Amino acid sequence: MSTHQTQNPELAVVIGGGIVGVCCALYLQREGFQVTLVDPAAPGDSTAKWSCGQMAVSEVIPLSKPGILKKIPSWLLDQKGPLALRPSALPSMLPWFLRFVACARHSKIVEIAEAMTSLTENVYDDYAPLLEACADKTLLGQRPILEVFDSPTGISHEMPHLELRSSLGFKSEILDARAIGDLEPALAGKFRHGLLFPDWRAVSDTEGFIAALTQSFVDQGGVRVRDQVKRIDELADRASGVTLASGDRLPAQQVVVAAGTGSRQFFAQLGASIPLAGIAGYQALLPNPGVEIRHSVIYADGGFCFSPMTRGLQIGGTIEFAGPNAEPNFKRADIILEKAKRILPELQTGDFEYGVGYRPFLPDTKPVIDRSSRLANVFMAFGHGQLGLTLGATTGRLIADLIAGRTPAQDLGPFRANRFSFIGGLA
Ligand SMILES: Cc1cc2nc3c(=O)[nH]c(=O)nc-3n(C[C@H](O)[C@H](O)[C@H](O)COP(=O)(O)OP(=O)(O)OC[C@H]3O[C@@H](n4cnc5c(N)ncnc54)[C@H](O)[C@@H]3O)c2cc1C
Repeated sequence: MSTHQTQNPELAVVIGGGIVGVCCALYLQREGFQVTLVDPAAPGDSTAKWSCGQMAVSEVIPLSKPGILKKIPSWLLDQKGPLALRPSALPSMLPWFLRFVACARHSKIVEIAEAMTSLTENVYDDYAPLLEACADKTLLGQRPILEVFDSPTGISHEMPHLELRSSLGFKSEILDARAIGDLEPALAGKFRHGLLFPDWRAVSDTEGFIAALTQSFVDQGGVRVRDQVKRIDELADRASGVTLASGDRLPAQQVVVAAGTGSRQFFAQLGASIPLAGIAGYQALLPNPGVEIRHSVIYADGGFCFSPMTRGLQIGGTIEFAGPNAEPNFKRADIILEKAKRILPELQTGDFEYGVGYRPFLPDTKPVIDRSSRLANVFMAFGHGQLGLTLGATTGRLIADLIAGRTPAQDLGPFRANRFSFIGGLA
């Protein structure tokens, strides 16, 4: 990675200061660009604040697993389940769903898992230089992640996926009741079947993680502007900068769109037709839970995760297809708390905060990392679904490669924006 500085550095604007945007900004800064990062929200106050904080490096199997079609009626009927589809969302989400379901073929799952692995196998190397430049050296935790199941059936259902992950170089260990209790005393006697993912790590202050990366960017000469980008300014077939809601104009030689679900606003200018949906996930944060959970623990059958955070115990996850512009339904967070209390009756739930995040999801679970076909100096970095925290730094490195004119070490073919323009959207 070159870190050359020039007398008159080129100007770059990154639209969106979530985890993906800040990592793009940091990697462009390392290339010698003078970078401005634009976001109306405070640093850290983005979707990943309400994530589970996991560097889920082997979570490469797409959400559309085999048998998904059969499950859709139950999602519609059971709004308390881990996966829910609001009936009102069905008409607007139908085209998205058809593409999603088409990804449930075994051959497609393997293809997607291989493509995602080409990104996730680099996660720690790509974060390393960014984290080294931060004052706090403990931003990324060292503990692995556990997954627990109500019965052995859960693990046997996962077995084909574990085998695929193993063939891609990822590790997992089967845990019995004793091993679960040793690792997580609060869960002793409650679960007899579990998995350990030794190569996953967790961030315990998701808001602070992004805020610290943003501070490091500013300390190294970057500028963060709190405003919204209204449009990309154009001159012939290139961007000349961006115009903000305040009316201010920021000139730029390079522009990166990394605005999560907000990226949709720019699709016409990007010349892209991309089925990007915002899939809701809910969290309940207990500042004083009265129970110690040491690792991030996925409770597969409940569809949620216990995440020990510096600000308390966060309990959440779930997947809700609610459609665009839907109001959050915090009853889903109540349901998660109810289920968590059944597992841990001693949980103190009197004091809590609810949060919601909208995962920017494409039907094939892969992000878009590409150059605009319409504006040659505009780049796309969005659609990271359930893996944006994990893939932030890798995406930043790849965007910097594209902008610098280097051929990236990873094949970016699977992450092209135009993959949805072919018949069926799945070529
Ligand atoms: C419940 C839940 C659990 C999750 N758990 C995990 C996990 O364990 N591990 C993991 O890797 N991922 C996880 N995720 C997914 C992860 O949070 C997302 O993939 C990630 O946050 C996406 O990052 P992003 O930067 O692309 O988008 P965002 O975080 O949404 O950031 C986009 C930013 O762009 C800004 N913006 C939008 N429009 C404009 C505009 N016009 N001008 C300027 N700025 C704009 C927004 O204000 C926002 O700050 C989880 C998500 C949820 C909801």
